[in-house]
Amino acid sequence: MAYSNKVRSIYQETISGIRDAGIFKQERFIHSPQAADIVVEFPSGSPLKKVINMCANNYLGLSSHPDVVKAAHEGLDSRGYGMSSVRFICGTQDIHRELERKISEFLGTEETILFPSCMDANAGVFEAVLTKDDVMISDRLVHASLIDGIRLCSAVQDTFKHSDIKHLESKLQLHADKRFKLVITDGVFSMDGDTARLDEMVALCEQYDAMILVDESHSSGFIGKTGRGTHEKYNVMGKIDIITTTFGKALGGASGGCVSGRRELVEMCRQKARPYLFSNTIAPVVVAGVLKVLDILSASTDRRDKLETNTAFWRKGLTEAGFVLREGDTPIVPVMLFNAKLSQDFSRALYDEGIYAIGFFFPVVPQGAARIRTQISAGHEMHHLQKALDAFTKVGRKFDILHKTKQEITDMYGN
Ligand SMILES: *Cc1c(COP(=O)(O)O)cnc(C)c1O
Repeated sequence: MAYSNKVRSIYQETISGIRDAGIFKQERFIHSPQAADIVVEFPSGSPLKKVINMCANNYLGLSSHPDVVKAAHEGLDSRGYGMSSVRFICGTQDIHRELERKISEFLGTEETILFPSCMDANAGVFEAVLTKDDVMISDRLVHASLIDGIRLCSAVQDTFKHSDIKHLESKLQLHADKRFKLVITDGVFSMDGDTARLDEMVALCEQYDAMILVDESHSSGFIGKTGRGTHEKYNVMGKIDIITTTFGKALGGASGGCVSGRRELVEMCRQKARPYLFSNTIAPVVVAGVLKVLDILSASTDRRDKLETNTAFWRKGLTEAGFVLREGDTPIVPVMLFNAKLSQDFSRALYDEGIYAIGFFFPVVPQGAARIRTQISAGHEMHHLQKALDAFTKVGRKFDILHKTKQEITDMYGN
């Protein structure tokens, strides 16, 4: 069918509907490297403005670290720009193998396989290791990429209420007849910043003879005493059957992901996972960058320690200023506003004060749970955080939401 005026008008109406609902996503253009201080054009065509970035996944401040950039340059010089092939034809270099070994060492796993992204890792892993005789039991708040991967798999699908161990147990009992049971969770949940209780979950999996998969995208590099992830925090290293994670967040922030865990499961991915078989893997320049990131993190915990200090300062400051926060101790610090339009207006007012922080609302978070999700970085210095705190306080006062309860805020703005 031709792209007729009728077809065009239907799409235009749909897009207008998105605009009218106030949920149209608008890009802000960054004219500088990713860092605590960035130069932004927003809205499109506006003069450039220097602002403090409070919403990057750049947890360790490594996205533009000079040593990582230098290592990437060297990788580019020594291994070229592109592979022009998928891994199993002629797209595997020695540095891909080296990165897989280093990741296994860092995460404390048996084996690792790289994917173009964690989205691809999650899209490929389930169908590669499970069949229709198996069951996948996932937390109801897992990341969209896990949901998509689950959809692509022929195994039976079920869910348990968010972080509800009792409910998970009932589902494990319900599916006792299946060949394999695979429990699926995020390590750190991206919208609320809470962590999965992996110690309890692993114990339950052992009791009911189930495997466990944890997506560590918002954990790898900084959660746990030496930054290995949520499994380190809960003292279950070596007991997670499958870890998926990204290099697109704390680990340099460029791109790429992996499946890491039991040797045979990783081998199954190498034989069967479609994004691995049919899509180019990580470019040499990025591999070289991630290798350097792992060296930096293995040499010292300074960055994750600084991130912890920064996070504590930020949470305490916002709490004392009178904001409603989601409880937690990760660098994801959601400032609750409840109303979608308020979250947009608040974000805009912060921008005018030189602070870049995005408002999230339905369907990214539940209805009535709109928020500004702030994310702290080891790249933030105290002066960044103090300035951001002053701006949040000023804007909070302007909207008259400080020292108010959820009820009082929703009475004023609706939800
Ligand atoms: C960001 C994220 C992903 C996707 O990672 P990419 O490598 O960018 O595809 C997957 N899972 C979770 C939990 C994430 O937060």
